[in-house]
Amino acid sequence: MILSMRALSFHILCLVLCFSPLLTCGCAEARAPVYSGNRMVHTIAITFDDGPHQTLTPELLAMLDTLEVKASFFLVGKMVDRYPALVREIFARGHTVANHSYAHKNSSLLSPEEFAEDIRRCNEAIERIIPARVRFFRPPGGNFTKNVLAMVEDAGLHTVLWDINSRDYTGVSASRMSARIISKVAPGSILLFHSGVTTTINALPGIVASLREKGYEFVTLDAMLSEYTAYHHGEMVTESSESSDQPL
Ligand SMILES: [Zn+2]
Repeated sequence: MILSMRALSFHILCLVLCFSPLLTCGCAEARAPVYSGNRMVHTIAITFDDGPHQTLTPELLAMLDTLEVKASFFLVGKMVDRYPALVREIFARGHTVANHSYAHKNSSLLSPEEFAEDIRRCNEAIERIIPARVRFFRPPGGNFTKNVLAMVEDAGLHTVLWDINSRDYTGVSASRMSARIISKVAPGSILLFHSGVTTTINALPGIVASLREKGYEFVTLDAMLSEYTAYHHGEMVTESSESSDQPL
């Protein structure tokens, strides 16, 4: 009897271990994040994290209009709730609007339930304001786990990172930022910038002019990833990229 009880316990343990992935991360396959677009096409996607920013997003939008550049904005849900008019403005000017979580917490440290709620709230905040479905997610700080990737797919989104980090949050000068980006850029590059940094706005004219001279065209993520074909030849994200984010 004791032996059969032990055998039963063993079988129950096996069943729990076999099905535990299903308990923790929904049912979608974890799919690799997108680091860049097609390496055969001379397009570049400029992306801005952490907006909307009360004062600098309007300045950034004006600069992008002047440069005739369409870009992509990974917005934080609680900031979307705070500044809905800016979200309408971003969308109205033809930029891609995407999900950067609701509370800007480290996705890899949240429970599955907390993470699912966090991305759902951000999507809902955005989709209440603009008539478009959110397609892309970028985890705060670029932190993710296999479970995070699977749950993003479950939510109908694709995880998009970057292959070139401007490091604009470090206080780097506009000229050094520009030189570094221009030396590293390749067809299909996805550039990471932030919405609340004045230096970024000042650096954009030089970066855009130099890259146009090299034959590059600037596109939104919607355009670059229209068929969601992932390429992974870019530099891997290894640093905590946004450790000096402004408090949100
Ligand atoms: Zn961020």
